[in-house]
Amino acid sequence: MKRFFAVWAVVLLILSCCGCVDGQSQPLKVQNADTVMGTVLQQTLYTVDRETPAVREIIGLLQKLEEERLSRRLDTSEVGRLNLTGGEPSGSSVSPFLEEILRNCLEMWQKSEGAFDITLGVVVSLWDIDGWAAGENRGVFVPPGKEQLQEALESCGSGRLTLERDRLYLPEGMELDLGAVGKGIALNQVLMYLRENNEITGAIISLGGSVLTYGQKPDGKSWSVGIADPEDTASIIGTLTLEGEWFVSTSGDYERYAEADGVRYHHIIDPATGYPADSGIAGVTILAKDGFLSDALSTACFILGKEKGMELAVSCGAEVLFVGKDGSITMSEGMKVYYESA
Ligand code: AMP
Ligand code: MG
Repeated sequence: MKRFFAVWAVVLLILSCCGCVDGQSQPLKVQNADTVMGTVLQQTLYTVDRETPAVREIIGLLQKLEEERLSRRLDTSEVGRLNLTGGEPSGSSVSPFLEEILRNCLEMWQKSEGAFDITLGVVVSLWDIDGWAAGENRGVFVPPGKEQLQEALESCGSGRLTLERDRLYLPEGMELDLGAVGKGIALNQVLMYLRENNEITGAIISLGGSVLTYGQKPDGKSWSVGIADPEDTASIIGTLTLEGEWFVSTSGDYERYAEADGVRYHHIIDPATGYPADSGIAGVTILAKDGFLSDALSTACFILGKEKGMELAVSCGAEVLFVGKDGSITMSEGMKVYYESA
């Protein structure tokens, strides 16, 4: 009899650790924060596997994506190598993975009438935007001069990029920068991982300015994604209430910037001038079913401003919300279904 109770005690202990109630397996919540791809990755996963390797595997997946494909600073990555070998008359071969991304980027360049442009690498370097991200330069920042920017702009322009099947012809001196879509591409990969993982029943994952929602919460409540107030980034102006799979990307003038002589310079560049875009917008949030699209559109719409940006986002099947520099909020009709002000 004693043995019988001892066995039951162990069984009950295991069940309670697994979160089992009435024989129904209740998913456990696992949370993690880390720095990946030069930004903050926050994971909340609901899993029926107590020992889930998912948190670590997702971090590994993103590190691999950065190191092998997207980083323009590492010569181990495909983008880094393309930038080094630019100017080859015979072009450079690109992987099917990057080829599809480059095609989508060129399509967005066309649709946005040149506002979204992945060939601004030289201008981005001149502003030292990657240095701002690392917290360097604050206080001793000297903005580039107009002539320097004009010269740098001569090395840019997606119109001068040729992609013929799997060969990319990158003009000498041109540098690719996929910083505007890297987080969205990464979250697309995370979604594929989650779909293949039967133990994860729900997740909300944020990487820099982009968020992925997936599956369900055990309590049946919706996902809630806050939209930062550009004036006071510790608070939110409102929330999006979402069910199942969604991508939410925000581009804002408060995300990365440097100051010189009382002027604040942010990281979203207008390809027409080489200067930070000034379209009266402080932040743009996009809601879409694809990570690349949400991330690309948030950058493009920031540069285009309210009217043209709204037109572009809606034509791509996405929803958009603009926060003006004056604090005004403008959104697409479809966004109103999900948005509630704080
Ligand atoms: P995001 O925060 O997604 O809007 O992306 C901004 C990043 O994209 C910058 O840090 C640059 O690396 C890059 N970028 C800046 N301006 C542009 C632009 N006009 N088109 C494409 N990428 C850009
Ligand atoms: Mg973006």
